Amino acid sequence: MAVIQSHQLVPHRKSAYPRFKVFTRKDIDDIQELRTLSNDERLSMKAVSAVLPFRVNNYVIEELIDWNNIPDDPMFQLTFPQPGMLETADFERMLDLVKKNASSDDLHRVAREIQNKLNPHPAGQMELNVPKLDAEPLAGMQHKYRETVLFFPAAGQTCHAYCTYCFRWAQFVGIDELKFAARQSDALVEYVRQHPEVRSILFTGGDPMVMKTKVLRRYIEPLLDPSLEHLESIRIGTKAPAYWPYKFVTDDDADDLLELFDQVSDSGRNLALMAHFTHPRELETPIAREAIRRMRSAGAVVRCQAPIISHVNDNAQAWATMWSEQVKLGAIPYYMFVERDTGAKQYFALPLEKAYRIFNDAYRQVSGLGRTARGPSMSATPGKVLVDGINEVNGEKVFVLKLLQGRDPAWVGKTFFAKYDPHATWVDQLKPAFGEKEFFFEEGLRQLKSARSLPEPL
Ligand SMILES: *Cc1c(COP(=O)(O)O)cnc(C)c1O
Ligand code: SF4
Repeated sequence: MAVIQSHQLVPHRKSAYPRFKVFTRKDIDDIQELRTLSNDERLSMKAVSAVLPFRVNNYVIEELIDWNNIPDDPMFQLTFPQPGMLETADFERMLDLVKKNASSDDLHRVAREIQNKLNPHPAGQMELNVPKLDAEPLAGMQHKYRETVLFFPAAGQTCHAYCTYCFRWAQFVGIDELKFAARQSDALVEYVRQHPEVRSILFTGGDPMVMKTKVLRRYIEPLLDPSLEHLESIRIGTKAPAYWPYKFVTDDDADDLLELFDQVSDSGRNLALMAHFTHPRELETPIAREAIRRMRSAGAVVRCQAPIISHVNDNAQAWATMWSEQVKLGAIPYYMFVERDTGAKQYFALPLEKAYRIFNDAYRQVSGLGRTARGPSMSATPGKVLVDGINEVNGEKVFVLKLLQGRDPAWVGKTFFAKYDPHATWVDQLKPAFGEKEFFFEEGLRQLKSARSLPEPL
């Protein structure tokens, strides 16, 4: 077992051992750094954050945001609510209530109305992906792709800070009432035991890394049982390396956490941290670099993924820099996602064409080791849809698309074509090319939907 020591830690600019402090909507007037904003600007923030969740911590405020570049700073855009995130009429309505000091009941009621218009459950998440054990639906799990089960631990349903683009926002504002959150790991172990096709478990949230190590251990240790030999990897989807790297370095249970990572390697399995790095600045701080170094020293693989979003990372330079920094740090570029069709989508969305061009421009700038990145990819109802090219075939301009993952495993790797559309931002806006009536997976998708006896109530 690797011995992990923190003596090589590069001293932190402020304090080597900062305590985690979190700020939410009610603290907007208390955040020192926001004092330079006008009262109206702060009121706008309160209006937007009544609808979309807001949460930020002292590390993001002190180390990541450039307060000399407000509001354009990408890290500010990534964590602080912006007026453009709501439709003008909705924004004005909320702002009016906030200005009038409306009761929290009134705020909540109007907020819920607006939230329900924002497509809280994209891509058939609630209906199609819920697995069953002995005919009982397992809340807290999703099983969409044959090899991989998603697990939402109940205690991991928040984050160190909230990304403004987050597609999980519905979980954080209570619409879901933690419907995806599993209470315990027994059902997970039993499900994996009964499903030899499952090779990978992905812990997700929120952010599972908000859990104390001893809680995380309760979920992970039972999965290391030799009887589950078909399980190849355990993945943890997390923003902590970017938003709270102390988790892996100086927090009380950091050493214990790395020991847990070591145990996974010792059991002959891959522990992959699916680290959400959205902007190169998140990789610049000494503490973030130390976090990656320590995770790797404990046998974990750090894979990096993020959506491409307007106002934050919609340029090739940002991605090329991220990928080459990741390579230097021994982390592996993985997915570039397209922002999902939910929440403040209109604010963050990019046309698929633009996302494709940025991906390729960045891809050309890095070495082969940086070209492990795949994208831009849409996690849509049929699967993960890659925009693989924009070509002209027999005089027709088309998007070349490819399923990287499929709800039906037979679809994986298939290439298909859509009419070129410079404005489309999601696969459901695309039309099949070459006069086809529908995409190849649509008939199969209809069958899957009707064959499925929907688990109700969820
Ligand atoms: C992306 C994703 C996975 C993991 O897919 P990989 O291609 O193996 O990384 C699993 N389940 C769902 C629902 C996903 O969206
Ligand atoms: S870390 Fe992930 S789940 Fe948490 S707010 Fe950001 S995007 Fe959402």
